[in-house]
Amino acid sequence: MGDTTAGPRVLLRRLRELMAEPLEPQERLDRIVREIARNVVAEVCSLYILRADSVLELYATEGLNPGSVHLAQLRLGQGLVGTIAASARPLNLSDAQKHPAFAYLPETGEEIYNSFLGVPVLRAGRTLGVLVVQNRTNRHYREDEVEALETTAMVIAEMIATGDLARLTRPGIELDLRRPMSFTGLPFNDGIGLGHVVLHEPRIVVTNLFNEDTDEELERLETALSSLRLSIDDMLSRRDVAFEGEHRAVLEAYRMFANDRGWVRRLEEAIRNGLTAEAAVEKVQSDMRARMLHMTDPYLRERMSDFDDLANRLLRQLMGRGPEDIAEILPKDAIVVARSMGAAELLDYPRHKLRGLVLEEGAPTSHIVIVARAIGIPTVGQVMGVVSMSENGDAIIVDGEDGRVHLRPQNDVEAAYAEKVRFRARRQKLYRELRDKPSETKDGVPVTLLMNAGLAVDLPQLEQSGAAGIGLFRTELQFMVALTFPRAEAQERLYREVLDAAGGKPVTFRTIDIGGDKVLPYFKGAGPEENPALGWRAIRLTLDRPGLLRTQIRALLKAAGGRELRLMLPMVTEIGEIRQAREIIDREVRHLSRFAHHLPTSLKLGAMVEVPSLLWQLEELMQAVDFVSVGSNDLFQFVTASDRGNTRVADRFDPLSVPFLRLLRQIVVAGEEMHTPVTLCGELAGRPISALALLGIGYRSISMSPAAIGPVKAMVCELPLAELTALMDDALANHGPVSDIRAVLHDFAEKHDIPL
Ligand code: PEP
Ligand code: MG
Repeated sequence: MGDTTAGPRVLLRRLRELMAEPLEPQERLDRIVREIARNVVAEVCSLYILRADSVLELYATEGLNPGSVHLAQLRLGQGLVGTIAASARPLNLSDAQKHPAFAYLPETGEEIYNSFLGVPVLRAGRTLGVLVVQNRTNRHYREDEVEALETTAMVIAEMIATGDLARLTRPGIELDLRRPMSFTGLPFNDGIGLGHVVLHEPRIVVTNLFNEDTDEELERLETALSSLRLSIDDMLSRRDVAFEGEHRAVLEAYRMFANDRGWVRRLEEAIRNGLTAEAAVEKVQSDMRARMLHMTDPYLRERMSDFDDLANRLLRQLMGRGPEDIAEILPKDAIVVARSMGAAELLDYPRHKLRGLVLEEGAPTSHIVIVARAIGIPTVGQVMGVVSMSENGDAIIVDGEDGRVHLRPQNDVEAAYAEKVRFRARRQKLYRELRDKPSETKDGVPVTLLMNAGLAVDLPQLEQSGAAGIGLFRTELQFMVALTFPRAEAQERLYREVLDAAGGKPVTFRTIDIGGDKVLPYFKGAGPEENPALGWRAIRLTLDRPGLLRTQIRALLKAAGGRELRLMLPMVTEIGEIRQAREIIDREVRHLSRFAHHLPTSLKLGAMVEVPSLLWQLEELMQAVDFVSVGSNDLFQFVTASDRGNTRVADRFDPLSVPFLRLLRQIVVAGEEMHTPVTLCGELAGRPISALALLGIGYRSISMSPAAIGPVKAMVCELPLAELTALMDDALANHGPVSDIRAVLHDFAEKHDIPL
């Protein structure tokens, strides 16, 4: 390779010297383009930089008319330069003027040049500009020359990113890198967060770009690659870890990439051109990402994320870096930006510094989102591309109300949000005032508003929200955020803490509801399931693993000694399951009393109505339990056959529709007839409009996330219930075309001035 790579190496050395010299930015750029032109034996070398207004401005040139610098401009997509920027791909043309995209800029005097090579200036997959060389002759640039120019462009990208060129931009003009961007995702948890970006997996910043010794760098790369391959093989062969399904597929993909010859060859080539091993990884990754960003195939984009992760692992190997101590470097208004993350990882961030969470992935009921909701931070998910567009420390706004994210927001956007925050604060004040007022409708009907919880961090909310108790305590959350099965003592401690915090208010503990999408990494379950939502989960799983249930019940019985214990079983399908669970409970009670333990004063057993089969045995169900609670999230997914975690179908059907409301009413009516209390604890209870519908069909007790209590109570206090009940009876009666229940409810609320 000697001859063909000597050029780039010399060039990189010269660039390094130029970067170190104390030069004015324009002077530095001018010298850089001159150096490149000389090195690749081109008559012209020009650098165009992408501005925030999508214009590529000529920043420096050797060979073209110097008077056109900062004047010559092309729009993104316009001309050859604009095409390169828009596609993030190089163009190598021996007769540029024949290319259909060629646009002639008279001020530059470029008409005499025929051959043209342009490459995008990329950083983390973003296009920051275009670097071009031109010759008079009809020359075809060699592959290694293209590669060399790309490597040079990477150095320039670094210059742009470090803000070196900021002084060259005219007032009022911003570089694209600093451009404000807005994204639309899905609102996962309400609230507005203003703060600064903290990349959950910070891109490792490679500062050491130029290599001293190619062979040594090639060797470093080989060593890092070998240990990377080994560690992946190791993870794949570990039998004690439940790397099933998804996880395994990701690791298989890693292994495939780590052995991909094309990838390794490109890395080696970049090193031969003069980069360090880590700079080579970054360069190849950036090129790939830029190309993939233009693809729409979700499968390939997903594979790109895998590749990104792999490159990051390789960088860590090369730089010998472990995860940084996040607590120390965290700004006081941190907004965590991640592709995806585990629930436990979020809890590693100090809560008092967290202002929001932005995810490229996630579903409303995924673990990380449940935890984000539990600790009450505004969360937006499914925000495509946000990670590569963000830099640590960028200003950012998360709008968990509308599912929007504003990166590097302009002043007016920031001002609008500051106003929105003030407005929300006023509303919160109103909710606080409502907190101590009785929860009853305008016509005097009491309504019990309970809250959902699952972790110790939720408990202060009981007091702050004014909830009448905890209607659903999701005990599996403790299991989900742990690294191994929580021991009996840890379970008992948490349950005791919950009951102490409740201070006599009722708490309904649900026995662990794992399986489905709630997987425990340390628990080897049924293995990959074709339809996990319909699979081995919740009460089915705990009845088959009675040790699990017994330990939990014993912990609950002990924690509730001397007080009332309310227990609830998830995903009950037939009455026999309740009977079986009751036997296990009775046995534990007998066991504890034999050892003279302090037992609960009373024990109430309930079941969740989540599986449709229960709807045809409501009478038997109500006889078998002390209370029931409708899990509308699961019930709705089963009734409509639409996966609640699949964003394509989760919102496709409206729960506020005639069939689903008729069905919910049937349950509450059966409860009244059988004198069995009925509550509802799915997400439906937490939105004022759906809570309104529930009250209209007979529900008098509902359980929701703590933040929803204020808005729902504000609605309840203004509600003439008798009138609503008549309206809903009429709307759900069968007379012809099915009504639009949502519209009916909105009209009603508007007429009666009910805040929704
Ligand atoms: C439900 O299914 O409605 C419910 C409350 O349980 P989870 O969301 O925990 O499945
Ligand atoms: Mg459920």
